[in-house]
Amino acid sequence: MVVVLEQGIREQDKNALRSFLEGRGFKVREVIGESETIFGAVGSAQIDLREVEMRPGVAKVVPISKPYKLASREFKREDSVFPVGPVKVGGNRLVVIAGPCAVESREQILETAEIVASSGGVMLRGGAYKPRTSPYSFQGLGEEGLRYLKEAGEAFGMPVVSEIVSPLHVDRMREYVDVFQIGARNMQNFELLKTVGAEKRAVMLKRGLAATIEEWLMAAEYLLAHGAEDVILCERGIRTFETYTRNSLDISSIPVVKKLSHLPVLVDPSHATGIREKVQPVGLAAIAAGADGLIVEVHPDPDQALSDGPQTLFPEQFEKLMRDIEALSPVVGREVARLPQRHRIAATPSVSVDAGASAAGDVSLRVAFQGARGAYSEIAALRYFDAADREVEAVSMSHFRDVFEAVLKGEVSFGIVPLENSLMGSIHENYDLLLQYPDIRIVGETHIRIQHSLIGTQDATLDSITKVISQAPGIEQCRDFLNRHPEWEIVPFYDTAGAVAHVRDSGDRSLAAIAHARTAEYYGMKVLRESIESNARNYTRFAILAREEDAVAREPDMATLVFSTPDTPGALYECMRVLAERQLNLKKLESRPILGEPWRYMFYLDVELPGDEAAFRQAYAALEAASRDLRLLGTFRSSRGFDRS
Ligand code: PEP
Ligand code: MN
Repeated sequence: MVVVLEQGIREQDKNALRSFLEGRGFKVREVIGESETIFGAVGSAQIDLREVEMRPGVAKVVPISKPYKLASREFKREDSVFPVGPVKVGGNRLVVIAGPCAVESREQILETAEIVASSGGVMLRGGAYKPRTSPYSFQGLGEEGLRYLKEAGEAFGMPVVSEIVSPLHVDRMREYVDVFQIGARNMQNFELLKTVGAEKRAVMLKRGLAATIEEWLMAAEYLLAHGAEDVILCERGIRTFETYTRNSLDISSIPVVKKLSHLPVLVDPSHATGIREKVQPVGLAAIAAGADGLIVEVHPDPDQALSDGPQTLFPEQFEKLMRDIEALSPVVGREVARLPQRHRIAATPSVSVDAGASAAGDVSLRVAFQGARGAYSEIAALRYFDAADREVEAVSMSHFRDVFEAVLKGEVSFGIVPLENSLMGSIHENYDLLLQYPDIRIVGETHIRIQHSLIGTQDATLDSITKVISQAPGIEQCRDFLNRHPEWEIVPFYDTAGAVAHVRDSGDRSLAAIAHARTAEYYGMKVLRESIESNARNYTRFAILAREEDAVAREPDMATLVFSTPDTPGALYECMRVLAERQLNLKKLESRPILGEPWRYMFYLDVELPGDEAAFRQAYAALEAASRDLRLLGTFRSSRGFDRS
């Protein structure tokens, strides 16, 4: 049963309630949620719920109807989110775990770890005890393998996952793994589940070869009932009559389980398909279906792999998959989890934060954005920093210039400003500000999908609306929908989130705003109609800003430059030739009037950085010679998820 506690329950009432329930044979677990605190009480004992309800400090008692209790949504309404080392699993992030099927040698796992980390994976997998169908197949390196796995994980700052096949191995494995994996073949090995559960460490529980969803959740219940709190479910395909693929991925189990349970669900497209070429499409489908991430097999040389070679990705296939996931993530409103930066970012003189250390993460970072609370910029900022597990405090500013000022003065560690919308083009004001603030650099980039909703007061309906307010672009982007309501008066407002705040303050049920559905939640307002934007492919790209001396970008792969050209024939061509001759890939080129110099233009360009830093420096020097007033606005890790091929 779920016992919802009254807000502000006295400590002695809480203790008395716990002793009462334990005395009646229940195991009690306290869950502090965002809106309420509950006691989950599970066990086989029978009790009249009214007896519990009458106790002081109890708001209500809700029986859990499912056979799995601790694993159920009834027990915990919010998604479970928990840290595994520097990585948070669950919630809004997509977590990608990758590595070989089995650890084969120290060199092999170190090399794989480098591939995984550099492509954007956040955890390393590798089996040391392999449950093989044939006793004559490679069985894994055992403890030696675990040692190499841990070393490789540590070298790249990644937590490690490895399968445990026997309760007898717990003592040996404890020292090495961050996440115990329970394999498909052992999903119903209840003694193993009990022993591993009692370790109270994160566990990834794979779905059994022929397990129903309920059996799978009951197996998770074993782990939770014996002490585990951080359980990750992993759908890896089930046995069907189909033999073309190794297993059949039950893709519908993802939304089903996400509804039934609060636990994060990962998908293993490698074991699900058994075929390397199928890993990418099936993995992306899993993310589209709502998975919280993937676990995939990758190996420096899959053809030489000692196990599961045919389903194991080549390094370049894994890199491509990560790029595709990056491109898909804003469509499903997710952000790909990243490892914290390993180098220091001196954020401000007063707030010096080592981005890699969670101890230093106690100091929450301040990030300035333009707009009212709940603005798209704030949503983008929170997602961007959350994906790297950085706690941030978003600070609302009235104007874009205020964002730059706050960064420059060190009042905030970072700023975020929109640079470009995929339908409406560049936000020139921010490019101009980048020129006016030469001490500020672009250090990161993120993009989110713009999904507008019509938002009103709690008692509003579509019929009660007579007037709609929003920022002009928001109105423009919803023209098709608005045209269907010619009776509505449409009034531009300075800001989308501000429009929602205004509707709330007015309490007027005839007034509606256009903004993100999250903004409605933020202000306790009602979404009258979701996804009213005319074009679903509506994205805004944001730049993360920092002061130049603090600007250490994470593995940059893109540069933004600005320059003008001499007023001579072929001048722009000469600049482009610098890039062409060096095989540098141009991603954006845009001209813009130079402020105060009528009929003269400057050019903004985004160019992919070559792997070799010296090559870029040379190109920059050559461009400097060919152009005028060349400036580097920043180098950063691109989020555009484009395909290099
Ligand atoms: C594995 O992940 O290496 C593995 C053996 O997976 P499964 O238990 O899903 O077959
Ligand atoms: Mn395998």
